[in-house]
Amino acid sequence: MSTPLIFDGHNDTILRLFRNDSTADSFFQEGEVGHIDLPRAQAGGLGGGFFALFVPNPRKSEIDSPFPGAGMSDAVARYEIPLPPALEYSYALNYVMGMMATLFRIEDRANGAAKIVRTADELAACLANGTLAMILHFEGAEAIDEDLNALRVFYAAGLRSLGLVWSRPTIFAHGVPFAFPATPDIGPGLTDAGKRLVAACNDLGIMLDLSHLNEKGFWDVAELSDAPLVATHSGVHAICPTPRNLTDAQLDAIAQSGGVAGVNFHTGFLRADGRADQETSLAEIVHHVDYMVERMGIDHVALGSDFDGATMPQDLKDAAGLPKLVEALQDRGYTGDDLTKIAHGNWVRVLRQTWK
Ligand SMILES: [Zn+2]
Repeated sequence: MSTPLIFDGHNDTILRLFRNDSTADSFFQEGEVGHIDLPRAQAGGLGGGFFALFVPNPRKSEIDSPFPGAGMSDAVARYEIPLPPALEYSYALNYVMGMMATLFRIEDRANGAAKIVRTADELAACLANGTLAMILHFEGAEAIDEDLNALRVFYAAGLRSLGLVWSRPTIFAHGVPFAFPATPDIGPGLTDAGKRLVAACNDLGIMLDLSHLNEKGFWDVAELSDAPLVATHSGVHAICPTPRNLTDAQLDAIAQSGGVAGVNFHTGFLRADGRADQETSLAEIVHHVDYMVERMGIDHVALGSDFDGATMPQDLKDAAGLPKLVEALQDRGYTGDDLTKIAHGNWVRVLRQTWK
């Protein structure tokens, strides 16, 4: 049986490379570190994904390591990490420039094996011919100024997807803190600048990513945006009550808008006990897929691994392990068109509708 390529809602591979390997050479060699390089992507049938540019907090904070929910001896995780302060614009801009250069360097050196995609046709062509399709995505809008001049410039450079926030405030919106168990309804909605940013993204055809956004901000975007609603890497709050996951009402709104949610593979966002633990079965990912399919319909469910940014189930390990997840989905009854939709078809449809 032929299996469809996976297109994935979120990875932090560029940050990992930027921090450790400014030449990005290691992207082209099969490694043991992290989760994605080109050989492991090809081995696992990873056809591409959203390559996030995430700017870390300037000082080591609790959030950076260990990952929240990790190493807890209690049966159920319990944590509440306060939001870090907003980033300085110049710091964020500088960091984003470095990571963007890393992404462009990968495309330069790939000899056609990897490409930054800017249109739905380019994305579909890459999936058809096995070129790794990379979407330039910002996880947090800290490198964008209030006048939105940078947005226009970054669009010209290839930006096609933007999260208004990571779990941190920006001048546009407020993120959810890492906490368990907790509701995503924490903090205020979009600022006036945030509302202008939504309109500007709609005009340019930049996809807005609602993962990490708090619930009031989510509802503001739902009201203002004329594009399908998307959460690139979030699971089901009813299964695992972290604010990073989506409530039933949010899942319903995404489905009604024609949008999509990508199930996050981070074990601490999968498990009902909230613990980040590699000893987590792939059935937990399938459980979130099942719930979403039941609630939203097959057209609105996708994958958003968080590779290179989170604690993966040990059976998956990295991108090369994706066939095991496909097998788990097949065993659960997802085959044919249904499997293709979850694997990449829903992403392609939503991006075709959103991009100009
Ligand atoms: Zn994230």
